[in-house]
Amino acid sequence: MTEEKITIKNGQLQVPDQPTIPFIKGDGIGPEIWQAAKVVFDAAVKKIYDGQKRINWLPLLAGETAYQQTGQWLPDETLAALKKYLVGIKGPLTTPIGVGHRSINVTLRQELDLYACLRPVHYYPGTPSPVVHPEKVQIDVFRENTEDIYAGIESDVGTEDAKAWKELLAKQGKLSKVRFPETSAFAIKPISKQGSTRLVNAAIDYAFSHHRHTLTLVHKGNIMKKTEGGFKKWGYEAAEKYGNQVFTWHQYEAIKANQGKAAADEAYQQAKKAQKLIVNDVITDNFFQQALLHPGHFEVVATMNLNGDYISDALAAQVGGIGIAPGGNINYQTGRAIFEATHGTAPQFAGQNKLNPTSLILSGAMMFDYLGWTEVAQLIRQAISQAIESHHVTTDFAKQPTDTVLSTSGFGDYVAELI
Ligand code: NAD
Repeated sequence: MTEEKITIKNGQLQVPDQPTIPFIKGDGIGPEIWQAAKVVFDAAVKKIYDGQKRINWLPLLAGETAYQQTGQWLPDETLAALKKYLVGIKGPLTTPIGVGHRSINVTLRQELDLYACLRPVHYYPGTPSPVVHPEKVQIDVFRENTEDIYAGIESDVGTEDAKAWKELLAKQGKLSKVRFPETSAFAIKPISKQGSTRLVNAAIDYAFSHHRHTLTLVHKGNIMKKTEGGFKKWGYEAAEKYGNQVFTWHQYEAIKANQGKAAADEAYQQAKKAQKLIVNDVITDNFFQQALLHPGHFEVVATMNLNGDYISDALAAQVGGIGIAPGGNINYQTGRAIFEATHGTAPQFAGQNKLNPTSLILSGAMMFDYLGWTEVAQLIRQAISQAIESHHVTTDFAKQPTDTVLSTSGFGDYVAELI
């Protein structure tokens, strides 16, 4: 195999014509959806570049399959290859229970410092949805990927660690805030200025490059004032560094306090007219309500790890479910990225060739965008659109007697033919 590596130079990805791209098939339904997706990827690349460019797919082991073959859930070679080749794609992986890794996905994101989890949630006409106007959901979620309670610093009830936490809290006069100290487990929630700033910067840069007009910071800063409140504060600070290109709600409030509401409203209208990026914030619980009632109010959302986990699945449900929800985990400085379906291994359906490969196919489209092979990405999205609109779908999307129900591989082949 020709070894052509993707590299990064002055913050720009350098993509050779035949890049080596590592892939992990994944566990459960992973191998089936991967196979269906690969057929689509190869067809789209061939159609656009007619052999001038192609992908050298490099198989890597991780998860249950890796454990069975090597005794390791995440072999060192896998991690090394993902570091070396910068950009990879993966199917879902089983979360091991009671062994070293809490979750292989979380470990990968932390080891490679893939701090931005981008989950674009957009509606494809024809997709069955539980809401009346799913087409109003056009929201790109930036979920921070390396901090928050996902850092995994937890102490179980009755352990030495838990005892140490209790002692520290007692010393600080805060133990009375713990309702049942003897039977409490503890977790730590680190949220940093650096972590928040780089995530919000990524969301702002994305908003500019994708012609989006609003960025919303979602947080529970009303309750967790230092952590989630810190995210909001640092988010606004990061946004205001973009100067004239943005107008923040923080600035709106300052004008209102100094010059009155009319002046603040006028400044806001001027900013909109000048097509500045409007940066505002909303408390998480309110976000869930507003996202159902007025999804059109949101364009790009930046939030922390746990909020982002809930938000992206809830939004995905509005546009048809996690079977169609793609994702990418990206570090915009090192260039490293892993694209992946947002759902899990669905083990009860493994081997049935039944579930929907669209999430992984659209994750691949995101990957091609990231590589700068945007025509390939567009072609893939167009073919998915055509398949769904003509009601050629997998069982999860089949709601009408006239639908043509395809298997996982059948759907992949059908989409590839549309290309
Ligand atoms: P899951 O996402 O695997 O499945 C939940 C349900 O969603 C399924 O029962 C199915 O009804 C539906 N679903 C999932 N994928 C679908 C698809 N492609 N098409 C249509 N419907 C689909 O969640 P789970 O059952 O809670 O988790 C199973 C395993 O996956 C666990 O080990 C979990 O830790 C792991 N997991 C991995 C990832 C990842 O690799 N990124 C993400 C989430 C969960």
